[in-house]
Amino acid sequence: MATSPTAVTASAMPAHRGSEPRPPLVAGLGFLHSSAQPGWGVGGLRDWFTEHLVDPGHMRAPMVITEPAAGTIVLHGSGHEATASQAALPRVLAAARIRVITALRGLIASPTDDRFLAAAIFAGRVRRRRMQTESHWVAQPEPTAPLSGVVLSLFAVDVLSHREEYDRRLCVCDVCNRVTFQDGEIRRKSCPDHQPQVSGMTRRVTPTDRRRGE
Ligand SMILES: [Zn+2]
Repeated sequence: MATSPTAVTASAMPAHRGSEPRPPLVAGLGFLHSSAQPGWGVGGLRDWFTEHLVDPGHMRAPMVITEPAAGTIVLHGSGHEATASQAALPRVLAAARIRVITALRGLIASPTDDRFLAAAIFAGRVRRRRMQTESHWVAQPEPTAPLSGVVLSLFAVDVLSHREEYDRRLCVCDVCNRVTFQDGEIRRKSCPDHQPQVSGMTRRVTPTDRRRGE
């Protein structure tokens, strides 16, 4: 199947028939996907916060977004300060992405490193909330949380709710850092575009269309 950049989120979703929607996973994968696109600006980041965190009631709208050692972005505002902070956006997004992907990679490492789950619980960024007769994990990051901490709180909710899926199917690609869910132990460090080479199997390479230009 051809994979366009916009298909990443959909194809990365666990494809289990009858499974309930998983908004925190959609939000987390959405951040990883969008933040890797060159054109994603402050407006996109602000919309992502509004859609996935503020409107569902997980947090108050943050005025600024910080990533330690990378910079601070003014999310709501105009003028010199906001304009100046936009220059730091690529650095902030890249640093947050690296921290999130490193934490997720820990889940498939040997030995497993899942300390970000305990850290998220300890920081109060994920909590158990009782809804009717059941209790669920919910994200509740503070508005001053680092961007990576906010994104990791979303993944922490999904991991705590679906741990066996992560233990079995989480894949973090060593080549492009893409996060997907695939079956097969051999694929844990790959993505559909960078399948591991297996002895006895030839790597699939898209043939060049030689007829073009004839
Ligand atoms: Zn890849």
